[in-house]
Amino acid sequence: MPAYPLKVLVLRKTKLGETDLILNLLASDGRQVRAVAKGARKPKGKLGARVEPFTVLDVLLHTGRSLEILAEAETVASHDPIRADYDRAVAGAVVLDVLDKISVEGQGEPQLFEMALVTLEVLEVAPVESIDLLVSAFLLKALAMHGYRPSLDCCAACGGAVGEGMSFSVEAGGVLCANCGAGGLRLDPDARALMRALMRARMSEVPGIDATDVTRTEALRVTRAYVGFHVPARLRALDAYVSAR
Ligand SMILES: [Zn+2]
Repeated sequence: MPAYPLKVLVLRKTKLGETDLILNLLASDGRQVRAVAKGARKPKGKLGARVEPFTVLDVLLHTGRSLEILAEAETVASHDPIRADYDRAVAGAVVLDVLDKISVEGQGEPQLFEMALVTLEVLEVAPVESIDLLVSAFLLKALAMHGYRPSLDCCAACGGAVGEGMSFSVEAGGVLCANCGAGGLRLDPDARALMRALMRARMSEVPGIDATDVTRTEALRVTRAYVGFHVPARLRALDAYVSAR
């Protein structure tokens, strides 16, 4: 079998046997690809240092029986500043974990890969105070690409205008007006406005969005609940991120 080239983002690595690694990769077409990096944990293995999470690689893969085999890897972007800074690393872990859980083998969403790369590029340089906004924006955009764009403009139940007394329903998929909103999550108008701004903004614009701590935290909590409802897997990095706030 000839090797084929692919641009990938390393999402996760898992030990396999004595010296190998299994890599969960997000491919440039948005599919998840799982590959074995043979010998990557040998002390002098050249591959080992290159296949860290957050790294963007140009790889050559061989088709294997259940997993692909990594033949070569060349670093496109290492994203070292994310790994080197605690706040960036924990936020970045949320991004990788969510990508790992929503991407699937054999079914791609190319926009997801582009958005992931831009998110990491901005995360690398953004002011530390703006990192939680980046996390919320990433989650909202990733969910929208995954088919669950939250309805933030009008009531998700009756289609009417929302105002005082609105709430957010993960089941209904968006904001609810005061009449429809029994049992929804608290969402005040500022947090809703912030979530709309995060959905609309380019990633590079997100750090410049102005919002109070209370509003940002409320938007993050509602977004987390929405992600949790639509992504069945346990999102440990996101749980830890939100409860640390
Ligand atoms: Zn309504």
